[in-house]
Amino acid sequence: MREFTGISASRGVALGKAVLVAPRELTVERRAIKPADVEAEQVRLERTLAVTREEFAALRDEVKKHKTSIRAEILDAYMLILDDEMLTSEALKMIGQEKVSAEYAFKTTLDGMLEVFEAMEDPYFRERAVDFRDVGNRVVLNLLGVAYRIFEDLGEDAVLVAHDLPPSDAAALPRGKVRAIVTEVGSRTSHTAIMAQSMEVPAVVGAEGVIGYVRAGDLLVVDGIDGRVIVNPTDKVAARYRALMRELAEEEKRRARLAELPATTLDGYRIELSANVELLPELEALKRHGCDGVGLYRTEFLFLHRRDLPSEEEQLDAYRKVAEASLPHTSIIRTVDIGGDKFLSFPEVARELNPYLGLRAIRFCLKRRDIFRTQLRAILRATVYGKIKIMFPMISDVEELRAAKEVLADVGEELRKEGRLFEEDVEVGIMVEVPSAVLSADVLAQECDFFSLGTNDLIQYTLAADRGNEKIAYLYEPFHPAVLKLIKATVDAAHRNGIWVGVCGEMVADPKAAVLLLGLSFDEFSASPASVPDIKTAIRAARYVDARRVAERAVRITSGAEIRAYLTEALADMGVPAFPC
Ligand code: PEP
Ligand code: MG
Repeated sequence: MREFTGISASRGVALGKAVLVAPRELTVERRAIKPADVEAEQVRLERTLAVTREEFAALRDEVKKHKTSIRAEILDAYMLILDDEMLTSEALKMIGQEKVSAEYAFKTTLDGMLEVFEAMEDPYFRERAVDFRDVGNRVVLNLLGVAYRIFEDLGEDAVLVAHDLPPSDAAALPRGKVRAIVTEVGSRTSHTAIMAQSMEVPAVVGAEGVIGYVRAGDLLVVDGIDGRVIVNPTDKVAARYRALMRELAEEEKRRARLAELPATTLDGYRIELSANVELLPELEALKRHGCDGVGLYRTEFLFLHRRDLPSEEEQLDAYRKVAEASLPHTSIIRTVDIGGDKFLSFPEVARELNPYLGLRAIRFCLKRRDIFRTQLRAILRATVYGKIKIMFPMISDVEELRAAKEVLADVGEELRKEGRLFEEDVEVGIMVEVPSAVLSADVLAQECDFFSLGTNDLIQYTLAADRGNEKIAYLYEPFHPAVLKLIKATVDAAHRNGIWVGVCGEMVADPKAAVLLLGLSFDEFSASPASVPDIKTAIRAARYVDARRVAERAVRITSGAEIRAYLTEALADMGVPAFPC
């Protein structure tokens, strides 16, 4: 038995068998071979290419039988790559000339080809580079004897263990098959954690060292409450966790009973309590957890893990489903927030040194107006099926808001000319998640209909602390006095200008924060569906007048640690249960 500690990223406890996820970026050490082994090494490469080809053929047949997220044509294209003469013959030559291992020769040849492809202007070739990398990595992993994980073939009790699991991969995980997720990097507000919360599976991130220790098939306990991973637990420890799982299942029943009740304080202050949604299957959870519609639909997940862009019709269908599932409540559809830690395979955007400060969100949309226009057309067309509001992410300047609204108006005009129906008075809001937006909040509030405060990003941009980096997670303090000042300034500016304001960052899932934000007079909270019952419990146990008093005092305290201590005490005085989060 061995225990690793990390950051609890998604609540719950699970036991299951470790499935190791192969790393995306592979490094292969140069390994010399004896001259007498050259021929055997060359044969090994050729055999591995043949085995890989067979694997893709089998997968293609499987994919054709069941509808999955991978498309059969992509696998056909992959098999063609394996027949590429140049790649194979160069690698075979290198084994012979330099007397190096097959994996080193193949990887080096592949990297050389990728460099040429990636430097080409033509997007077709850049797209091919993505395919070559995927196929080539699979060959290298086969040569190294590491199983490459196509998530479709996971067993029933899989605990995924990865160095990193980018959101695009997390989005492709089969629902209901993954028991838990463990990663070596990441933090509570990384999008991998957000995905785990939306899948309602326990997750521990930032568990350094697990990859080097855990073997495929090891029994793991993932404790997403205390941020612990226990490898091959003793019978006694496993039994203790099984008992805890039964207790949590009971707790789940109590939470279910809350679904029909409103998020209203003891003294009658009603707050909208809606859900953050990433993928359409999550819509089923809205009613189960008693959410007041969708407060944030992260549309970028429609664009991830695929090699083409979703068409207007496909997007329309998705937005319509969100709108209909939210009725009688509203749904806020956020335009794509690509960049940061969410990247498209297509079109490939050049890697940036500082992606969170780069071509992200509205900046990407204003640059790729073709993509933006298609999305806006689809959202506007979906407005006839429910109560949709549109939201722009990462606005940092009023000119950006104006430019985005101009595109929206233009798209509306285009639809009108085509005789298509849509809601003419659709509300348009912005995410306030960059400090400059807070400081310009009065100006911005005059030009939009609502604000939704994104604490995940606001905290990282205010404190210069990467939201996904476990090494500086201790600096990422939601209760930092500077953060609270900005939050308060945002609510006050919104109300001063007569617009409503919500909050949709992960912070709100902490009951201490829920009471504080309630006291600051937010009109709406939005969080992952699974955290809605706990937030509702906190709101229903509190009195708004008390929360106001607590918030007024909290914003005057000068350190994060003291604010936390004060809130813990205040919640106990108010009788608000402090759930683990
Ligand atoms: C936020 O930044 O708080 C937010 C809700 O958006 P995202 O997590 O998608 O960046
Ligand atoms: Mg954000």
